[in-house]
Amino acid sequence: MVGRVPRIACVWYTYGMTPARWVLLATVLLAGVPAQAAPASIRITIPRDVVAQGEALDVTVVIHGGAERAQLRFAGRTFRLYPAGRGVWRTIVGTDPITAPGAHAIVVEAASPQGAWVSGRVPVRVRKVTFPTRRLAFDPERRALLRPEVAARERERVNAALRVLHPSPLWDGPFARPVEAPVSSPYGVLSIYHGQVRGFHTGTDFAAPEGTPVYAAAAGIVRLAEELPLSGRAVLVDHGLGIITSYLHLSSITAQVGQRVRRGDLVGHVGSTGLATGPHLHWGMRANGVRVDPMPWIAP
Ligand SMILES: [Zn+2]
Repeated sequence: MVGRVPRIACVWYTYGMTPARWVLLATVLLAGVPAQAAPASIRITIPRDVVAQGEALDVTVVIHGGAERAQLRFAGRTFRLYPAGRGVWRTIVGTDPITAPGAHAIVVEAASPQGAWVSGRVPVRVRKVTFPTRRLAFDPERRALLRPEVAARERERVNAALRVLHPSPLWDGPFARPVEAPVSSPYGVLSIYHGQVRGFHTGTDFAAPEGTPVYAAAAGIVRLAEELPLSGRAVLVDHGLGIITSYLHLSSITAQVGQRVRRGDLVGHVGSTGLATGPHLHWGMRANGVRVDPMPWIAP
């Protein structure tokens, strides 16, 4: 170790939630293209029209007249829409600390079976969150892992594992805490390695002794269960609708790729493999590719 190294740290800094209690706050009906060209209108439903950086938004889209293809754009990113019944599409839109605060709009564009395009939009405000900063230092061996080619190799492996995802939600209700341990570093912390800003903490760290059991936070399908250069021994669980949870730096993996897990099933044990300065669980969540804060998904 070099310099003042925090006892617990990991590298996941770069770039949350469908609680049933969210009430319907915004429904917008937008007129589309002329009558002869279906779809005639797009209705976008969201549970609320303000989202804090790091939070996620459950979006339902009804396309009257049907659609061949549909896509959703928000705050400079494109999100996949998943078919959820006749003319109904759904997705989870994620935000993170680099999503610009302020006024945005969810924009849905759809192509009718006849090839006509229609679009709808609903305004959403992103609320700024002040994330703390922390400085990290690593020994030379771990520093070598910070090379861009190592990150690229890992990203390629993860992307391949996540190429096919379950289109509908596999979870039901709030997520479970993945480990019985206190939080040692929250989501969103801006990290500075050797004087350089390296992005933000993409998940929540729990400080726990090596070997502490780690559980699936919700039902899903294991998409990755292997050792990666930065994440160490890692498990990724697909919960459907583009929601993935990650369990990183494990000492051992007990889950297998393709395995169906339930909320609370054992997936591995806490460790310090990969780029970590001590035993901890890094628990992360992706909402259609955006690294969101997983903690709001846990039952209070
Ligand atoms: Zn972490």
